[in-house]
Amino acid sequence: MRACNEKDAKGKICAGHLKRWYFFGEEIKRLFGEEAEIYRCENCKTLYLPNPDETPRSGTLAY
Ligand SMILES: [Zn+2]
Repeated sequence: MRACNEKDAKGKICAGHLKRWYFFGEEIKRLFGEEAEIYRCENCKTLYLPNPDETPRSGTLAY
């Protein structure tokens, strides 16, 4: 189980619980697709992607 590693102003790790988040907008859909797995920290609301190295599914970068 992943936890939030965002630091607050005092440098303390948030460690909030990351929850699957389905309410992302058009911009995120365009970047990561309709089925993007986005997680959001329940504590500080930071958004996380599960795997930034994952190949985009859009096909626009199919070189
Ligand atoms: Zn957090």
